[in-house]
Amino acid sequence: MELDVLIVGAGLAGGSLACALAGSPLRIGMLEARPPRRAEGWDARVYAVSPANVDFLTRIRAWPHLDASRTNRVEAMQVFGDRGGKVEFSAYDAGLDALAWILEASPLAVELWETLRRQPNLTLLCPARPSALDVDADADAATVTLDDGRRIRARLVVAADGADSWVRAAAALPVRTTPYGELGVVANFRCEAPHHDSAFQWFRDDGILAWLPLPENRMSMVWSTPEAHAQELLSLAPEAFCEKVAAAGDNRLGKLELLTPPAGFPLRLMQVPQVVAPRVALIGDAAHAIHPLSGHGINLGFQDARVLADLLNGLPAHRDCGELSTLRRYARARNEEVRLMQGVTHALNRLFRPRNPLLAALRNRGMQLTNQLPVVRSALVRYAAGLI
Ligand SMILES: Cc1cc2nc3c(=O)[nH]c(=O)nc-3n(C[C@H](O)[C@H](O)[C@H](O)COP(=O)(O)OP(=O)(O)OC[C@H]3O[C@@H](n4cnc5c(N)ncnc54)[C@H](O)[C@@H]3O)c2cc1C
Repeated sequence: MELDVLIVGAGLAGGSLACALAGSPLRIGMLEARPPRRAEGWDARVYAVSPANVDFLTRIRAWPHLDASRTNRVEAMQVFGDRGGKVEFSAYDAGLDALAWILEASPLAVELWETLRRQPNLTLLCPARPSALDVDADADAATVTLDDGRRIRARLVVAADGADSWVRAAAALPVRTTPYGELGVVANFRCEAPHHDSAFQWFRDDGILAWLPLPENRMSMVWSTPEAHAQELLSLAPEAFCEKVAAAGDNRLGKLELLTPPAGFPLRLMQVPQVVAPRVALIGDAAHAIHPLSGHGINLGFQDARVLADLLNGLPAHRDCGELSTLRRYARARNEEVRLMQGVTHALNRLFRPRNPLLAALRNRGMQLTNQLPVVRSALVRYAAGLI
């Protein structure tokens, strides 16, 4: 089979890239091991999506089809330090509709899947897995052999196959992984008190706790905490777990009732110095993984997809879409934001770890200062929203 672009992986990054290439004359292939499924009840994977990415998802016609009764805008966010520091962010003060939108991962993945399945320029290869990647000697195409023996020649292979990317390994692109020694413990709750569309985050001695608002007094939690403590939390009976989470968040939303069983995900920083190689480009978690404290993982992935799609859609008809010069333009365009976000989240995680009282006083004083400077707060919000 001959294609222009073969995307490996129909997660949120790969799915959004395929949809963003819908109107293009390029022949696209989507290779996926298993189709996405909608989680039963409330999905444990809940993401904060930035306004810039809501615009992107609207442009590719996915956002308007999501069930609005299951998304929640974030109008304000309160961040607490471990020694009295506090910073408050408000969408209103920053001149925005929302700081972010909270949504479940699986309905969006299914929506993207249903959209890309109907694209006339797309061939679906699912269920399927790649077993070999060869870049031709004259490098005018890459050949991907599937585990059932089929062979696909594509001018460009896009790795959207997640943090343990098969394509990245097959293309011999090196990766630096720094485990945090922490798990992200996630769970959804029904709350006794209303959240008023506010998100909360606490930098605590035992990790970083985030509460994200979900519709009708529900909320989603991510508690990034050292492995031993995470295992302790995961082994608690539901009632004791709810009490522990409520107390860790100063009982701000009253009593909590568990909606989804808690789950733990190992956290790591993953840096990929080169995200392109001849005939290969990496997007999403295949290209970078960051600590979830800023809620930016998939936001970076959506921007990878947007930038790569804009470049491919803008190429003249005669131009080879897998040319290394085009791929390098993509890599350059993404380099700064990815490095900055990785650097900032890594530094914040390190800054709040040590128990040293002097450092604790300094970092909490820094938060108070930030809170007293509306211009700085507004700039931070607009940057996080993807607007500057
Ligand atoms: C605890 C936690 C909380 C998080 N919270 C947030 C948040 O609030 N906001 C946010 O933006 N991000 C968050 N993230 C990060 C987010 O989960 C990831 O950035 C996102 O899922 C990556 O999407 P992706 O499409 O790149 O990869 P994936 O979601 O991993 O998708 C990869 C796809 O490729 C397919 N695939 C893999 N290998 C193969 C193969 N060999 N052959 C065929 N198909 C294959 C898989 O089936 C899958 O469909 C969080 C992460 C964690 C761990």
